[in-house]
Amino acid sequence: MPTQAKAYGAASASSKLAPLQIPRREPGPTDVEMDVLFCGVCHSDVHTARGEWPGTVYACVPGHEVIGRVTRVGAKVTKLKAGDVGAVGCMVDSCRACPSCRKGLEQFCQTGATFTYNSPDRHLGGHTYGGYSSRIVVDEAFTLRVPSGLDLAATAPLLCAGITTYSPLRHWKVGAGQRVGVVGLGGLGHMGVKFARAFGAHVVLFTTSPAKVADGLRLGAHEVVVSTDPAAMAARAGSLDFILDCVSAQHDLNAYLALLKVDGTLCLVGVPEKPLSVHAFSVIMPRRNFTGSCIGGIAETQEMLDFCAKHGIVSDIELIPIQQINEAWNRMIKQDVRYRFVIDMASLKQA
Ligand code: NAP
Ligand code: ZN
Ligand code: ZN
Repeated sequence: MPTQAKAYGAASASSKLAPLQIPRREPGPTDVEMDVLFCGVCHSDVHTARGEWPGTVYACVPGHEVIGRVTRVGAKVTKLKAGDVGAVGCMVDSCRACPSCRKGLEQFCQTGATFTYNSPDRHLGGHTYGGYSSRIVVDEAFTLRVPSGLDLAATAPLLCAGITTYSPLRHWKVGAGQRVGVVGLGGLGHMGVKFARAFGAHVVLFTTSPAKVADGLRLGAHEVVVSTDPAAMAARAGSLDFILDCVSAQHDLNAYLALLKVDGTLCLVGVPEKPLSVHAFSVIMPRRNFTGSCIGGIAETQEMLDFCAKHGIVSDIELIPIQQINEAWNRMIKQDVRYRFVIDMASLKQA
């Protein structure tokens, strides 16, 4: 029998987030139950809860950057034990048998991965509820170990913003000798800057916010370009090997494709609500690649966390009580996030 947990969620696309109760299953033999300590706030939470992407089911309880304290584990669990700190990212299950799952690319599971929120729940029916909640129960295969020594609140955003930027930079082998652009200094973008720098690339940050220039340099960019300055953009034409586009809203892709060298690659990780247009000349003359990437598999997420522990990388965060979540969302939409909101879930006890 499931038990009830406290959560914050949206009753409809136009509702503010408000307290509600959700069911959580009793841990089965391979399950880990955690009390949620911290949950990062991703722009995908807003896109989903506000119905900006197709397919949202209500009530919608977002949150997929979860750091938790393990309370109970099933008899077969070996990865974590009661009292440990564990983590959950964007997925809680997949078929584990298809070619994508077997390659560790569970996010591309051919039967559809079970995402942490707004996916059909394979156990309870209905749909999954995310980390804006007091408690979560997840199969151990989809939990992560949190290496010691990391600040736990600042580690939460690594579970989505971290892996979503780490994975494409690794896949396209970004490193020393390359000039890499990162577009948009929000949650994803600031992690993209940190990782591209840590991998040895020359990092050029593009922002629409002149007030973020100093932060961009502090976070690791070698150069910061205010993208509304046509002369600064023209000066970088044809100069970059790779661009990671982390923008959450409509913007002109052609302006960024023009910055790539021959055979350079622009990888989209931002998911604006409406389609973006690419002019044929942007990719044929000269030859350029336009692609995308979605989070990262579980093994790669663990690799990323271990890399962060080794290199002392965490997010720059603003810790909020859950009672401030609606205001935090509005600030994020207005590009006023420095650079990830993280909810201190102890505040939910007062909700
Ligand atoms: P965020 O913190 O809100 O950052 C987005 C940044 O985009 C803003 O800080 C801003 O940077 C820039 N921006 C916003 N509105 C803009 C506009 N109208 N024109 C130009 N630039 C604008 O969001 P996030 O959490 O990093 O997420 C970014 C996007 O990635 C979202 O669409 C999210 O859903 C998506 N996402 C995708 C994946 C994936 O697996 N592919 C995973 C997680 C998130 P400046 O102020 O520097 O311009
Ligand atoms: Zn996310
Ligand atoms: Zn699969």
